[in-house]
Amino acid sequence: MSQSSLFDNIQPERPNKLGHSDISYKEVSTILNKTSGFMAGYDFSLNPYSGCAFGCSYCYAAFFVRDTEQRDQWGYWVTVKENALALLKKIRHKPITDKTVYMSSVTDPYQPIERKIELTRDILKELLNYHQPRLVIQTRSPIAARDIDLFKQFKVIQVNITITTDSEKVRKVFEPLCPGNNARLAAIKEINEASINSCITMTPLLPIEDPHVFAKSLLETGIKKFIIQPFHKDRGSFTAGTREEAMKLFKEFEWDTNRYHEVEKIIKSYIPDIGIGKDGFAPI
Ligand code: SF4
Repeated sequence: MSQSSLFDNIQPERPNKLGHSDISYKEVSTILNKTSGFMAGYDFSLNPYSGCAFGCSYCYAAFFVRDTEQRDQWGYWVTVKENALALLKKIRHKPITDKTVYMSSVTDPYQPIERKIELTRDILKELLNYHQPRLVIQTRSPIAARDIDLFKQFKVIQVNITITTDSEKVRKVFEPLCPGNNARLAAIKEINEASINSCITMTPLLPIEDPHVFAKSLLETGIKKFIIQPFHKDRGSFTAGTREEAMKLFKEFEWDTNRYHEVEKIIKSYIPDIGIGKDGFAPI
């Protein structure tokens, strides 16, 4: 289905359910939001969706949700900002060229619904043709590789893919609804090989089975830019069962602040220029 058919109202297909997620559609008042906090260095954040079907157990975005039921159901609902494109079209006369845009800060722009409705892709086309901002894309999804043709046309762009662990066992406890590690590594490799400025974000770094093998596998992608930051095990929206599993893994991997620093040191021995936390996320 082409994007214009959904958002220009010619035969709209609007799934209300996709996999485990309920999908709803809403008009919003703004699509470019002034940043603050961690993202304060950027001019705008751009979130095509609210909610996120990836539902990572440590996701801080969940805590910004006012509705407590939605907060508890984080990962199981997504709202499509159906007028996102229309809002961007309205500001064509006032291009945000040279502004820094971070897509996305509280959702994943390449979560499963994107494959069906291509809202992020349409937004990229609009940004490309009328704005050319300095764009950073942040995702955990291999679907991002679909848009290499568009990424190539941005003058200033960086695509970040998050890889949090080398262990599928760990990934399945902390990010059970996310794509697997190998698929993410393959996607960022493909994007990088298309000569697009690419970055692997270990944000947060979860328990690691073998930091030496992990660091080598990161370098094998050909990526030159990396960002790392610790996981805070006291923050997060674990359910009782998940928390038990997570605690077992912390024990098994002897994962605490000391172990994090040991692993970080090993990774840094392979990747000396690694960006740390907020500084690593500074705008391009
Ligand atoms: S992919 Fe990002 S926004 Fe989505 S749940 Fe995970 S951390 Fe949160």
